[in-house]
Amino acid sequence: MKIRAGFVSNSSSSSYVCDVSGEAFEVHDDCFWDAGLCQCPMGHVFQKKFLVKWERKYPSRDEMLSKLDEVTDSKRECMEFRRLTDSQLKQKYLEITEGYQGNNANVNECPICTMTFIKDSDLIKYMLKKQGLTREELVVQIRAEFDNNFPAFLGWIECTKKN
Ligand SMILES: [Zn+2]
Repeated sequence: MKIRAGFVSNSSSSSYVCDVSGEAFEVHDDCFWDAGLCQCPMGHVFQKKFLVKWERKYPSRDEMLSKLDEVTDSKRECMEFRRLTDSQLKQKYLEITEGYQGNNANVNECPICTMTFIKDSDLIKYMLKKQGLTREELVVQIRAEFDNNFPAFLGWIECTKKN
């Protein structure tokens, strides 16, 4: 999650908060990877250590080549594609099919998109929906239950006994 733009006028630095840990990071020139972060296509930002292990399935070499041929009219370029190593070809294929830039995670690698991790804000939305309450209704309910006494409310929350 982006929190603010950088202060230095000639630098394109921005601050991001990891959607999983809540830690803040400076990102220069949109280089998420260099800052230790990944960003998924849904805009979730998270530390590399939270990447979900996922193995990308590639089509056959011939299928990747025919996909690449579709995007160029140049015979010379088609020839060049055929000289690429397997890993270069995969990289090129990703650039064309997903606009892959090397520093973005796929949705299959995102802890939030895969529901490996659920943000507190989403948990709250879920609980409210399940309870059929709006946020405001819940606030009114809690205030009444604890008579506007925050320590009592906190004590109840932190008490491990279920009731
Ligand atoms: Zn995501």
